[in-house]
Amino acid sequence: MSTYAEMDKAALEQEYAKVKEQYEGYKALNLKLNMARGKPSSMQLDVSGDILTVLSKNEDCYDAEGTDVRNYGGLDGIPECKKLFADLLGVKPSEIFIGGSSSLTIMYDVIAKAYTNGLKDSEKPWAKLDKVKFLCPAPGYDRHFRITESFGAELITIPMLDDGPDMDMIEDLVKDPTVKGIWCVPKYSNPDGITYSDKVVDRFANLKPAAKDFIIMWDNAYCVHEFKGEFVPFRNILEECAKAGRPDMVFEFCSTSKITFPGAGVSAMAASEANIEYMKKLLAVQMISEDKVNQLRHVRFFKDRDGLLAHMKKHAAILGPKFDVVLDYLDAEIKPLEIATWKKPTGGYFISLDTNDFCAKRTLELAKEAGVTMTNAGATYPYGKDPRDRNIRIAPSYPPMDELKKAVEVFGVCLKLAALEKYLEK
Ligand code: PLP
Repeated sequence: MSTYAEMDKAALEQEYAKVKEQYEGYKALNLKLNMARGKPSSMQLDVSGDILTVLSKNEDCYDAEGTDVRNYGGLDGIPECKKLFADLLGVKPSEIFIGGSSSLTIMYDVIAKAYTNGLKDSEKPWAKLDKVKFLCPAPGYDRHFRITESFGAELITIPMLDDGPDMDMIEDLVKDPTVKGIWCVPKYSNPDGITYSDKVVDRFANLKPAAKDFIIMWDNAYCVHEFKGEFVPFRNILEECAKAGRPDMVFEFCSTSKITFPGAGVSAMAASEANIEYMKKLLAVQMISEDKVNQLRHVRFFKDRDGLLAHMKKHAAILGPKFDVVLDYLDAEIKPLEIATWKKPTGGYFISLDTNDFCAKRTLELAKEAGVTMTNAGATYPYGKDPRDRNIRIAPSYPPMDELKKAVEVFGVCLKLAALEKYLEK
């Protein structure tokens, strides 16, 4: 079959009529399918079901030091939970702060504290500065961008390359003292599924920003989320920054949102001991302690890092085949037409697809009309503006397999129709 670019007008019109008919056929089915948010499916939630009963009696509720987890106290988390996350991230328990159920909340808090109080090395709170710029590798995670946007920071787009963000550009931009930080998802990035290369991690650790209080927001949300193959070890960014002489430049985050229950899991922040002490002083004003019952339930459920990694295999067995469905469809139906390109991740929660220029919005509009909801076009860029209107984030995890298969078919037809409309200038 010819690619669309190779077809003459008559062939394109013929193809358009065929695809349009398929599209109308799907529309008539009144489908209601969703590939928008990266949520675990109910089958995945069920694999953590035992967490609901692992603490079942009053006597179960004491941590390793004999503290009753049902009561106030222990701002930074119970010791065994700090150890579990420390082992997971390869850092020391003293470098860990256990948060509530959402890592985004702690990320928000770090940025909020930077604005209201300043970070440990800030000359003044960011709110008192005329300008704050924040670097946003894109395509990236919309909620990251929105946190810094909500405080009034100017967002600067950094292109994502195959092995991480464009480091030449970052090294250049950090010479500007108003550039205060950067968002990163170093493993199975949202949405590209890219893992930063060792070289990129080294360059991050060796950044020499002009701002003394520049922060790397290292969101390791998908640190153990392989759905293909064995667990892939990752670098300890805290250690690398310390070796490079700037131990306080990085805050790392993760959570069990996509390990146990999103919204009812446990989150963690890792940072230098000095940063943890500084943040604890500020956080102590807003809370007495987080949910230690949930922390203990998680530790009892996993037992240790190996237990957690074994648990991730159960997710992989459910998630892997769903990614295959999407990728196999794209390879068979879309690739020969050369109307889109995509990455083939082996972990994380998303497939990132680029349409021909200026076709993403239209593709998603068509999908919506046919009953398939997907993440809004542009969402993966700062301010929701994708300059070439081409990136689409596909989230295959949530729908059951039969719905996913249907949703992908509908999406494929919408991709074709939007591309044909563009070629035919309809
Ligand atoms: N960070 C990234 C990169 C994500 O993709 C997500 C959810 O999709 C989150 C954080 C949300 O994490 P949490 O549920 O811990 O707030």
